[in-house]
Amino acid sequence: MHYRPNENRYDKMVYRKCGQSGLKLPAISLGLWHNFGEDFPHQSKRQICQAAFDAGITHFDLANNYGPPAGSAETAFGEILKTDFPGLRDELIISSKAGYDMWPGPYGEWGSRKYLIASCDQSLKRMGLDYVDIFYSHRFDPETPLEETMGALDHIVRSGRALYVGISSYNSQRTKEAVAILNDLGTPCLIHQPSYNMLNRWVETDGLLDCLDDLGIGSIAFTPLAQGLLTNKYIGGIPQNSRALQGKSLDRDKLTEELIGNLRALNDLAQARNQTLAQMALAWVLRGGRVTTALIGASSAQQVIDCAQAVENLKFTDAELAEIDLLSGD
Ligand code: NDP
Repeated sequence: MHYRPNENRYDKMVYRKCGQSGLKLPAISLGLWHNFGEDFPHQSKRQICQAAFDAGITHFDLANNYGPPAGSAETAFGEILKTDFPGLRDELIISSKAGYDMWPGPYGEWGSRKYLIASCDQSLKRMGLDYVDIFYSHRFDPETPLEETMGALDHIVRSGRALYVGISSYNSQRTKEAVAILNDLGTPCLIHQPSYNMLNRWVETDGLLDCLDDLGIGSIAFTPLAQGLLTNKYIGGIPQNSRALQGKSLDRDKLTEELIGNLRALNDLAQARNQTLAQMALAWVLRGGRVTTALIGASSAQQVIDCAQAVENLKFTDAELAEIDLLSGD
């Protein structure tokens, strides 16, 4: 069926400036890591993207290796852009990345100039795009000089393949080094993409959030729902249609009795705030404005709609924050 975007799509979403740049991102963004490969119905992928855009989610995050098989999420998204979003390219922020294993041989992963530029070209072809809005180095490469990796990002922007660049999962020390190189090259780093959620707070202990504040760089927190743990999905056991049962990236052994007990208590707290647990988990990541946007995944349109409503209450009392620390602090 022909998709007609919701005319009120920009009314409820909150848009936040990405660091000191001029770019605004929606407080909730959609990632296509899972549920966009060949193992998932195309119609459901379309519904997820449509629900996101209707809710004001303008930012879609991809990577070369998303699938399975690797590359197929970008191919599927390219088809969706054609069928459902014609004429809307300028309302979208689309990102991709290179860093993980993509093709055989020594040039198919990590951070060389050879790999990053070839991979960016492949991503553009799969998505049918002239350019991506943001291109990332997906992980720090200990064997390639940082100057080479950042130089490749700079070239990707100067050659028109991307508008902005970002880095993902770099610690605060590597981030400072990468940002200094990019500044020298004249292609400032727009954004950092780290993992962050109530159960995984490395960005606080590493000092990364402070570092990004100091540098004026925005951030997009991936796995803000701890891959679904921080939702009402697992509080009554492990459902059939879940990532934990399908043995994807979420290890079911993580679901100890203690964790489930804490998730139930967090769910009670969320209900007292008139939120679902997913909404409270997203609001927590976004609290105080240090994280620009929370990058969710979804297996249904309904999940996207639920998550987008997190922006209706982003405030916490000190007592709520203390209870969350007690129930989820790592
Ligand atoms: P989340 O922590 O948001 O987990 C998403 C999963 O949570 C969904 O697939 C679904 O599980 C469940 N879920 C989502 N919303 C709801 C809801 N409202 N109610 C109940 N359950 C819900 O993030 P992801 O792990 O999917 O990662 C998000 C994105 O982050 C990726 O798509 C990717 O773009 C990026 N990422 C980046 C990485 C990097 O190295 N830079 C690494 C990993 C991810 P189910 O499918 O079981 O229904």
